[in-house]
Amino acid sequence: MKQITILGSTGSIGRNTLEVIKHFPNEFRVFGLSTNSNIRILSDQIKKFFPEVVVVRDTFKAERLKRNINNKIILLGGEDGLIELSGIKVELLVMAISGSAALFPLIKAIETQPMIALANKEALVMAGPLINQKVKETGTKIIPIDSEQSAIWQCLEDRDKSTLKKIYLTASGGPLKDIDKRDFRKISLEKVLNHPCWKMGKKITVDSATLMNKGLELFETMYLFGVDISKIDILIHPEAVIHSMVEFIDGSVLAQLSITDMRIPIQYALSYPKRLRGFLKPLNFIKIKNLTFLKPDLNKFPCLTFAYEAAKAGGTLPVVLNASNEIAVESFLKRRINFSNIPKVIEKVMKLHKNIKKPTLHDIISVHQWARKKAEEVVNNFN
Ligand code: MG
Repeated sequence: MKQITILGSTGSIGRNTLEVIKHFPNEFRVFGLSTNSNIRILSDQIKKFFPEVVVVRDTFKAERLKRNINNKIILLGGEDGLIELSGIKVELLVMAISGSAALFPLIKAIETQPMIALANKEALVMAGPLINQKVKETGTKIIPIDSEQSAIWQCLEDRDKSTLKKIYLTASGGPLKDIDKRDFRKISLEKVLNHPCWKMGKKITVDSATLMNKGLELFETMYLFGVDISKIDILIHPEAVIHSMVEFIDGSVLAQLSITDMRIPIQYALSYPKRLRGFLKPLNFIKIKNLTFLKPDLNKFPCLTFAYEAAKAGGTLPVVLNASNEIAVESFLKRRINFSNIPKVIEKVMKLHKNIKKPTLHDIISVHQWARKKAEEVVNNFN
């Protein structure tokens, strides 16, 4: 039985991970769960999966949960509690916390855990080189959960990297693919949150609509596989059947295909190196009929251009990209700015930044905070 801790168990990836675990009671056992503040869903998960340790990051909510759970369960609160759980060794830790909040628990997990299934991309965008350095020192195995990265990882396996020619990172194109850019200003939050292929959390769904999600995935691919950005091509593939492809120097291309359901890459991340019998419907090629591919429209989706710019520059510019995007998306979700202002916030803050080439963790955190504050100011100026 594989002992598993899930950080961010009440979010979309966390809940899907537990769905997979439920199907394989003889394979996996839940050791630890954590939530930011959703104690309603966490209580339910505690009743179903009997974890030994749970963490609620919001200390006020942690106190409330304390009154309602069995006192045999260890309940920890706050950021300290989250770091403590990250540092309790299990066989696999699933990092499903969304956004920059994952950075410190991820670093702690790399110091402690033999294997991490990684769904979070923001921590890599912020501190990819530092994280890779730590991974090298500790020998922790990182298994990607993000569907594209899982596809690349499955195609590459342990093949000789010098034979790799190109990685095709595919993108469905999001919910606004066929909408004219001039109409972006008045596009509703509901429309943006209605993704055509994937059911995901709100932050990543907005990121999919701006194509920032693909921009963040550029960093993920660079850092997870140690490839230069010049070897990564983004392809819009609306059917979302191929989850990414790898081309070798001899002209052979390998692709990974499946239905669009996060439980497929999650299951493989949990069971690796084994494969377990799936419980979802298979792909139906007769129904699919066509697979189409298009170039991304950088003029329509400037967030992707900003991501390229930050990836090429390196240093702390990616930190600024990520932090200003987090504030812009949050503001859009709170209906404080319209959709077309999201890239404007990011562009303004990136322009104000003086890049630090080889940042320490301390530099990264201070730039992150600086960029969030600047982005808030820009948002306020729109109103
Ligand atoms: Mg993805």
